[in-house]
Amino acid sequence: MNTIQPAKITRVLPDSIAAETGFEAGDAIVAINGTCPRDLIDYQFLCADEFLELEVVDATGKTHYLEIEKDYDQDLGLEFETVLFDGLIQCNNHCPFCFIDQQPPGKRSSLYLKDDDYRLSFLYGSYLTLTNLPPREWQRIEQMRLSPLYVSVHATEPEVRMRLLKNPRAGQIIQQLQWFQARRLQVHAQVVVCPGINDGQHLEKTLEDLASFYIGEVPAVASVAVVPVGLTRFRPQPDELIPVTQQKAREVISQVQLLGRRFRQKFGSRVVWLADEWFLIAGEELPTASEYEEYPQIDNGVGSIRLFIQQFTKAAAKLLPPKISPPKKLTWVVGNAVEKAFQPILKQLNAVEGLEVNMQALSSDYWGQSISVTGLLTGHDLLLNLQGQDLGTGILLPNVMLKHGEMVFLDDVSIEEVARQLNTKIVPIAGVEELINTCIQF
Ligand code: SF4
Repeated sequence: MNTIQPAKITRVLPDSIAAETGFEAGDAIVAINGTCPRDLIDYQFLCADEFLELEVVDATGKTHYLEIEKDYDQDLGLEFETVLFDGLIQCNNHCPFCFIDQQPPGKRSSLYLKDDDYRLSFLYGSYLTLTNLPPREWQRIEQMRLSPLYVSVHATEPEVRMRLLKNPRAGQIIQQLQWFQARRLQVHAQVVVCPGINDGQHLEKTLEDLASFYIGEVPAVASVAVVPVGLTRFRPQPDELIPVTQQKAREVISQVQLLGRRFRQKFGSRVVWLADEWFLIAGEELPTASEYEEYPQIDNGVGSIRLFIQQFTKAAAKLLPPKISPPKKLTWVVGNAVEKAFQPILKQLNAVEGLEVNMQALSSDYWGQSISVTGLLTGHDLLLNLQGQDLGTGILLPNVMLKHGEMVFLDDVSIEEVARQLNTKIVPIAGVEELINTCIQF
C-alpha cells in the first residue's frame, strides 16, 4: 500500500460546519477519530459519526486537535485536492487498445498514468479490470460494500481476455463475478470489441456468460456496454488491432440486438447495450428511447445521443421562446459523428425568430480520425477548423470535450487559449437546458 498523505483541503464550503470551525484551504486532515483516511471513501465513512476528533495540520505545518459534534449525516463541507490520499492504484495490464498509450508523446506526465483503481470506479464510474487487487482490497470492497463497480470484461474466455489485457492474471473473470454474486454486490460490465480477437463467437459467449449473472433480486451483472475499439494515429505499432468498418459495425449491431431481444424475453431486461458509435459507424438509426430502458450505461455514453434528443424535445417545449431580441448568431461545435442525429435540434433552435445557430461538425485531426464523437474533439481541432470563420457572437461548446472538472481540452489546450486565438467567446455547455438558456442569454 502507498503511504497515506494528509488529506489537503482546497475549499471550505461557506456556512458549513468546517467554515464555522475555522478550517481554511491549505489545511490538511491527518486523522479522524484516530484513523488516517486512505481516500474519500474512508473520509466519508469516518465522518458518518456524531462525534469527531480531528488531527489537522495547517499550511505552516502546525498540528491542531479539534472536536466536532454533529448529526451523523451532516457533511463537514470540505473539498480535497485529490480523492485518493494514498495515491492512485495503477494498471498492470498492457491492452493494445489502451487510450493512454495512444496519446501523443511529450505531454504532462499525469496524462500517461494508467488508472485501474476500484475507488475511482466506485466514486466516479470509471472502468477497472480487477487484475491488480490483493486480498485486502477485495476484503475492503466486501466490508464497505463498494458497489456497483464498473468492470472492463472484454471477454469471459480466459485465453481471450489474457490476450486482450496481455496479463496472465486476467483469466479469472468468471470466478470474480461469482465472488460479487455470492456477496450480493453488483458490477456494470463493458466489452471493447476488437475485430478478429473478441468478436463473433467470442462476443456471443461473453455476452451469454455475462447475462447469466443477471438473475436474482440483486443481479451481479447489472448491465453490459458493448463498445467498438477506438484507434488513434498515435497507436503504438505494430499491434494486432483492426479498425471497426461499417460492415463490422452492422454485423455487431445485428448480433447484439438479437441477443438483447432474447435476454429481454428471458430476464425482463436487454442486459446488453450497444455504444452509440456502432450506429454512427454503421450509418444506422439509433435505437428508440424505450430500448435503453433506464439508461443503465449512460455514464459510459451509451444512449447519450438518444437521451439528449429526448431531453431537448421536452425542455424546448418549456424553455424555447418563439423569438429573441436582439438577434444573435452562434456557433455550436460537435463531433461530425452526431451531425445527422442532431439536425432536428438545430432546426428547432433556428426556428426561433432572431436566433441563428450554425453547427460546426468537426472530425479530429489531432487523433487522426475521419469520424469523431464530440467528446474526442480537442483544442487543436477547433483552432484548425475555425480560424478565419464567421463564428458570430461566440461558441457553444459541449463540456464533454473538456477534462473532468477542468477548463482544458484532452490535448491540454485551455478554453481560454482557444478563445484568445479565435478572438471569440466560448461557453461550455452541460446538457440541454444549458444549451437552450445559453442560446437565449448569450
Ligand atoms: S486496463 Fe485500461 S489503462 Fe490498463 S492498459 Fe488496459 S486500457 Fe490501458
